[in-house]
Amino acid sequence: MVLSKIIIVGGGPSGLVLALLLANAGVIVEILEGSDKLDGSPRASHYSWPALYELQRAGLLEEIRKRGFVATDGISWRKVDGTLLAKFSIDAIPPDYRLHALPLGRLCALLKERIDGNPNVEIKYLHKVIRIDQSDESARVFVDTPQGEQLLEADYIVGCDGANSQIRRSLFGDGEFPGRTWGVQIVATNVYYDIASHDWGQGAFIVDPVHWSMAAQIQPDGLLRVSYGEKVGLSREEYIARQPEKFRTILPGHPSPEQYKIVNLSPYKIHQRCAKSFRVGRFLLAADAAHLCNPFGGLGLTGGLVDVGNLFDCFIGIHKGFTDDSILDRYSEVRREKYFSIIDPVSSANLRRLIQDPDIAMKEDPFFTMAKDFENPEFCAGLAAGVNDIMHDFTKEYVKPR
Ligand SMILES: Cc1cc2nc3c(=O)[nH]c(=O)nc-3n(C[C@H](O)[C@H](O)[C@H](O)COP(=O)(O)OP(=O)(O)OC[C@H]3O[C@@H](n4cnc5c(N)ncnc54)[C@H](O)[C@@H]3O)c2cc1C
Repeated sequence: MVLSKIIIVGGGPSGLVLALLLANAGVIVEILEGSDKLDGSPRASHYSWPALYELQRAGLLEEIRKRGFVATDGISWRKVDGTLLAKFSIDAIPPDYRLHALPLGRLCALLKERIDGNPNVEIKYLHKVIRIDQSDESARVFVDTPQGEQLLEADYIVGCDGANSQIRRSLFGDGEFPGRTWGVQIVATNVYYDIASHDWGQGAFIVDPVHWSMAAQIQPDGLLRVSYGEKVGLSREEYIARQPEKFRTILPGHPSPEQYKIVNLSPYKIHQRCAKSFRVGRFLLAADAAHLCNPFGGLGLTGGLVDVGNLFDCFIGIHKGFTDDSILDRYSEVRREKYFSIIDPVSSANLRRLIQDPDIAMKEDPFFTMAKDFENPEFCAGLAAGVNDIMHDFTKEYVKPR
């Protein structure tokens, strides 16, 4: 079946990468984005190999390395007073496979540049999907636009419309996103402050029952992401009022507000959730629309980019006649299995590891009892490569159509 058009709902990073992969391969794509511009909020910033592999296939990796940076230093875990608990060596990880950093807004800007130059794909801003419909022949969305409601149609429609996905809600119902919400939340900030001069290198996690947090460089010019735990249920104004005391406590050098420059601040609730299925007929779900995890360890968008890379291989197999569309059921099965077997447990452990007494953690937490091995570069390279298990090669699953 030659695909005549695919609609992607949501111009976030996952939708844009899927669109670029498909458009580069000659498939016509329409992106419907509810907002009037692409998102620039302080979210994803670090990408491990499974995400980099997909960004490379989209032809973006060289430019990401130019605009962002590749880690040259391993992350450490510290007490809130700065005492070093453990430091992860990245010496045995080849630079191409190390964490790459580029803030989400800058990644989306790069994607937009490439999409704007590609005749096979168009972003339609201020196109908010409000409901859906489908038949054996096509998938349809009803879209709120400045010109009034429109009905748009394609062979398949992919919901890349984020955590609050309208596509997911239309398929399963408003409250149907199985999983849990953490009883803590985070405040994510982008801030200029020099942690390297305090011997914190490119980043550190703080292990503490109250002041658990992370500070990591995200731009070559020294911009940091500082994310820290907070009480649930305060207003934005209350979180802003509490921020200076938080920074004084968690950052090395205990700075006052004149010593750093905050670029943005966003409070986030954090969830572990996965949709019942990532396929219903001609509708597919990917990335945050399909599954959520807390951001510690950077598995959110990384998992989402692997989804869209997998979906690309499935669509291209169908488009070129290498497989029938039963591969889309396998897409749903495989990606859900990867969520439950790796993304959910690993990301949950990453967060729990921070919210504990550091002295007890060093004696009893199975991760920190390996801390001595973190000085062994080969051991660390093996541990870091574990994330590659979220990848899957769908080209090996093509089933020749009868
Ligand atoms: C603080 C923080 C730090 C993070 N750090 C990392 C990290 O380092 N590494 C990592 O891998 N992940 C990280 N993540 C997770 C990552 O940011 C998300 O997984 C990622 O942004 C999800 O991308 P997406 O394209 O699925 O959805 P989104 O980025 O949410 O995009 C969805 C898009 O859909 C549009 N939309 C929504 N509804 C509609 C509709 N009805 N019609 C049309 N358009 C619609 C929205 O306007 C938006 O543009 C972090 C998250 C947070 C909160």
